[in-house]
Amino acid sequence: MLIIEQYFLYRSSTHVIHITNDNEPQCPACGNPLRFIGTYRRKLRDSEYRDDTFIVRKLRCDACKSIHAELPSLFIPYKQYSRKGMEDAVYNPNTSFSGEESTIRRWRAFLSGHY
Ligand SMILES: [Zn+2]
Repeated sequence: MLIIEQYFLYRSSTHVIHITNDNEPQCPACGNPLRFIGTYRRKLRDSEYRDDTFIVRKLRCDACKSIHAELPSLFIPYKQYSRKGMEDAVYNPNTSFSGEESTIRRWRAFLSGHY
């Protein structure tokens, strides 16, 4: 997995969101350049249960044979919600989050690094 801090997002006419990266992506394992091999769709949910679909790039390192998904830093690996969605649910009292109170407690612990 490759988390990128600098990226641009644009929504296509089919409403999916594309991620562009001006920088040449480099293998997080060995530092060699990564090669584009395909895409997959990943859903991301905000604190109000709105889903967006992102087109995530799959990249391959020819040097060490590893494959990496290129994820913008707004994603939290392996989580369905965006970082912003989690932060809104935990810290913003005006957010109408409809999940369980136990979810909020877990997210608060996660966001403060005690998870
Ligand atoms: Zn590599």
